[in-house]
Amino acid sequence: MKPVRTRFAPSPTGYLHIGGARTALFSWAYARRHGGTFVLRIEDTDVARSTPEAVQAILDGMQWLGLEHDEGPFYQMQRMDRYKEVIQQMLAAGHAYYCYTSKEELDALRAEQEAKKEKPRYDGRWRPEAGKTLPPPPSDVPPVVRFKNPKDGVVAWDDQVKGRIEFANTELDDLIIARADGTPTYNFCVCVDDWDMGITHVIRGDDHVNNTPRQINILKALGAEVPTYAHLSMILGDDGAKLSKRHGAVSVMQYDDDGFLTEAVINYLARLGWSHGDDEVFSRQQFVEWFDLDHITASAAQFNTEKLLWLNQHYMKQLSPADLAAKVKPRLAARGVDTDAGPSLEQAVALYVDRCNTLNVLADAVEVFYVPVTPHAELLAQHLGDDARPALADFATGIASVAWEAPAINALIKETVTKNGLKMPKLAMPLRVILTGQAQTPSVDAVICLIGRERVTEALAKYL
Ligand code: GLU
Repeated sequence: MKPVRTRFAPSPTGYLHIGGARTALFSWAYARRHGGTFVLRIEDTDVARSTPEAVQAILDGMQWLGLEHDEGPFYQMQRMDRYKEVIQQMLAAGHAYYCYTSKEELDALRAEQEAKKEKPRYDGRWRPEAGKTLPPPPSDVPPVVRFKNPKDGVVAWDDQVKGRIEFANTELDDLIIARADGTPTYNFCVCVDDWDMGITHVIRGDDHVNNTPRQINILKALGAEVPTYAHLSMILGDDGAKLSKRHGAVSVMQYDDDGFLTEAVINYLARLGWSHGDDEVFSRQQFVEWFDLDHITASAAQFNTEKLLWLNQHYMKQLSPADLAAKVKPRLAARGVDTDAGPSLEQAVALYVDRCNTLNVLADAVEVFYVPVTPHAELLAQHLGDDARPALADFATGIASVAWEAPAINALIKETVTKNGLKMPKLAMPLRVILTGQAQTPSVDAVICLIGRERVTEALAKYL
């Protein structure tokens, strides 16, 4: 078998969104699975919509996802000479021809076809045929170049996701492959690239299904081997509508900003339209070992934010406290919070990770340990009753000499409430509110232990 060569060929007209990232992941994984080559190609011929910022966003996104390409990035704008060369070859071989139909003539043709309720299509008036005499080329119309699409028969392929797809050639008119100014058109460039780059498997979104018959015909005319195609179904948002900007965080880098781990996003994307039995949690490496085209679903995949959050928390919990702290630290630093001035960040994140599903939520949670805490008066009034004040004072005295470890602090709390004839929450709740500004925290003894004797003593003194 030929060595596998796949490509990801984004148009740099925006950031790398989730759909593109999934396409890139599948193309990458297929190449890795088969020891093949993954090519990155930037389809930047739409100069009006392509921007260098978007190219950079794609490169950044790919890097963040860890989808390394083996060849490229190739830029279509840098391959113009090659496309023009192939167009000349197509003309010389009789696979393409000059068409001098003016814009006015095309408009008239369309109006006529629409009046007859026909699909608008080029009628082949400049197409050379045996025994047909073409009019003399007008001198005032710069010609376009059209591909001589086969007139009869079908063009078909066994799509690895959608099954057999067939188009009648009569449905395809003669595609313009070079505009009047000589610039090659989109479908033609894709063909030359896939051919030159030796692509064996084209894995892409199913918005390209209608381009495929045209591309296959052109590839055949070029004498190129037709690759295997796998068209991925679209991704729907949580609400079942087509995934769009409306659904918020659709740029891959937005997930980074929002505190998602690459591992979680990769695992999540892998399951968007592909499955391996009931496996939900698997590493990148495991995915590469398992990935195949047979288990890509033909139906649309639906985005599920809850599942992504669940996976993200799973991968956060897999990190060592030191690694987790290293990821949270810059997020707090970006807010001007200095985590060196305060308790151990490693211990803080370890204490809170079970209740946080993104790095940002975790940063929010532990921030209280590094900034002055001013509990809301209302929250304080709600939890610190007059009956609790003597217990609070006893506790403040007790911590001066207690062994500074959670079990001993816990014992001191229990002792204090018993002595004051109170129930546990009567003291635990005001402690939480005073020390963190929040009524919900992990085990209060662990929180107190983390904050440290000195700071706890200082904080309690304000309420005695
Ligand atoms: N440039 C196309 C896009 O971004 C992809 C073309 C292809 O994969 O063949 O949709």
